[in-house]
Amino acid sequence: MLNIVLFGPPGCGKGTQSEKLIAKYGLVHLSTGDILRAEIANQTQLGLEAKQYMDKGALVPDEVVIGMIASKIDANRDAQGFIFDGFPRTTAQAAALDKMLAERNMQIKCMLSLEVPKEELIKRLLNRGLTSGRSDDQNPEIIENRIKEYNQKTAPVIEYYKAQNKYKPINGVGSIEDIFMALCQAIETE
Ligand code: ADP
Repeated sequence: MLNIVLFGPPGCGKGTQSEKLIAKYGLVHLSTGDILRAEIANQTQLGLEAKQYMDKGALVPDEVVIGMIASKIDANRDAQGFIFDGFPRTTAQAAALDKMLAERNMQIKCMLSLEVPKEELIKRLLNRGLTSGRSDDQNPEIIENRIKEYNQKTAPVIEYYKAQNKYKPINGVGSIEDIFMALCQAIETE
């Protein structure tokens, strides 16, 4: 089984590269952002709670997203592997993920971290806001807050995977194809 964490700040290209990795390796995509937006669209209790955080650019509480991931893994027990996109976003989530995988005899192979400078991120997010319909992409203050949340709560997740020798930094600036090639190389060299 090939289980990968695709990591990086908002706007680093996780969504774009996930699609390509899924197509190449036949993985199931678990994006907490996508799952949360679907909950909001369906106006579920979980969606209504999550929206209050997402609208501000804040992280949704750990227990909410951790529960969501466990049920998605169990719904896809025949999968060849999973790509975790936008999760884990805190070290508590990373520890919870390891625990839920170990309980199912699974583990993370590597954490691919797309590295992109802040100015480039803001440019990409505002640009995505023109077409994505996502309100959290349209307001510079909310974008700043998402990047602040990333730096404070999410960046420490790098240390968590470094300690397990699973952290693989990838330059996230360049052509989509070149970045994809670097990701594949990192997955296949072990
Ligand atoms: P981005 O492009 O900003 O990385 P995502 O679609 O991954 O977008 O996430 C959008 C929002 O959903 C985040 O700003 C956050 O509020 C919420 N969210 C997504 N995943 C998580 C998570 N693992 N933990 C907490 N909040 C999350």
